[in-house]
Amino acid sequence: MTMTQDDRPTLKIAGAIEFSPAPEGHPVDIRPHQGHFIDGMFVEGAEEGRFQTIDPATARPLATVAAATAQEIDAAVKAARKAQQGVWGRMSGAERGKFLYRIARRLQERAREFAVLETMDNGKPIRETRDVDVPLAAQHFFYYAGWADKLGYAVPGRTPHPVGVAAQVIPWNFPLLMLSWKIAPALACGNTVVLKPSETTPLSAMRFAQILQEVGLPPGVVNLVNGPGATGALLVGHEGVDKVAFTGSTGVGRHIMRTVAGTKKKLTLELGGKSAHIVYRDAALTQAVEGVIDGIFFNQGHVCCAGSRLLLEASIADEFVERLKIRMQSLRIGNPLDKNTDVGAINSAAQLQRIQHYMDIAEQEGAGIWQGAACPAPSEGFFHLPTLLTGVQQSDTVVREEIFGPVLTVLTFRTPEEAVAKANDSEYGLAAGVWTEKTAKLFGTAHALNAGVVWANGYNLFDPASPFGGVRHSGFGREGGIAGLWPYLEAR
Ligand code: NAD
Repeated sequence: MTMTQDDRPTLKIAGAIEFSPAPEGHPVDIRPHQGHFIDGMFVEGAEEGRFQTIDPATARPLATVAAATAQEIDAAVKAARKAQQGVWGRMSGAERGKFLYRIARRLQERAREFAVLETMDNGKPIRETRDVDVPLAAQHFFYYAGWADKLGYAVPGRTPHPVGVAAQVIPWNFPLLMLSWKIAPALACGNTVVLKPSETTPLSAMRFAQILQEVGLPPGVVNLVNGPGATGALLVGHEGVDKVAFTGSTGVGRHIMRTVAGTKKKLTLELGGKSAHIVYRDAALTQAVEGVIDGIFFNQGHVCCAGSRLLLEASIADEFVERLKIRMQSLRIGNPLDKNTDVGAINSAAQLQRIQHYMDIAEQEGAGIWQGAACPAPSEGFFHLPTLLTGVQQSDTVVREEIFGPVLTVLTFRTPEEAVAKANDSEYGLAAGVWTEKTAKLFGTAHALNAGVVWANGYNLFDPASPFGGVRHSGFGREGGIAGLWPYLEAR
């Protein structure tokens, strides 16, 4: 394959189609200060340590946020314990299920408001929050509501018991969805929860607490504490916690593993990834281009399972890269609240810096850097153009490390064995995509891949009934489906 070392970095702008602005107009009031939600009540939180949550599309602050003190975390854990040993632990599964159904319905009723709020706080396009994040969050509550009175079927021949109080720490890339992945199965199984949202995206979780009040969830069943990493460390280290569920980076996951080691706490970790697409020459190429674009650019690469390593069969590599470039030139980058936007803002200045750091490394490693979009990136806010890195090696840092941005590396292979070897040559093992019209090749490749999830002729497809999780440094434990119940149950 002849990988052209294109001019770099080059913004290719198609500019042929002009769209009228189509901003989402639904008004959302944001309280200027966000505290915590403890024992069924909103509390202001301490003055000390307050920080701001920023709209990444404008770099302007949306609200100040409190950082929970050790006393506040203690109060939240104690409230959760009281609720678990009292009302929630004694409630029948059918009654618990009714609360989950109510939460799901309220989320649906307030879906537009949540979509706008999530887009403002996270920077992802409204199209994503409206069509993916919020509907899927509601679906998770519906799905686990159905399980609440049928837990015996999840552990046949044994009796299910709740684990107790769950400490849950989540990242910023899918704030409401990650919250639903954590809270819905925990509550269905009779546990209570103290959850810490990411410090850069606390707003949808705090609004979710309004829903908890609206549906009359007993106080203490769900508690939310805000704050940075140090708050998360205090929470997972609290001796009153029975189970820790963490989603975030592999580095922090390792740290949490060390904290929890030697205690009675159960642990599940959903960590980072460097997932590969394998595209065979017999794939439906237009469909594959769309899947690859969806897997890395539509969400600014802010997906744990982002398909960030593209492996192309050598004979189609040039054609495929050309097709990708053409499609990339039609991607609209800009205001995430505009319904035409494909690529929104990077969540924070720190994350943008991290991506730029990897771009410097790409240059040092001699990669061909090609950037394309239908329009220039806005000058204010945190934006990064969709980027292809060609001419890279398997051993390059940009191929091995998680960039967590809209950056796709391109490599080639000649045989299915080589494709699998390259895909598996990673410390991660979260997801993979296989593109071929040949079923035997599809199954053969999928079975040989070291990944928790393998999508066939599609990518980033989620369903609450389907378990999700990684292997190796991408973590352990599953969220979603029947397997998502097990970490929250003691089967005796
Ligand atoms: P991060 O690890 O920096 O932070 C995640 C959460 O952990 C945040 O709430 C943070 O405040 C908290 N935290 C930080 N240090 C902590 C500590 N010492 N103890 C306890 N909590 C601590 O990750 P991030 O930048 O918010 O998210 C991006 C990462 O998350 C990426 O690596 C991505 O792949 C991963 N992720 C994985 C999945 C999955 O399902 N496998 C899903 C989403 C995101």
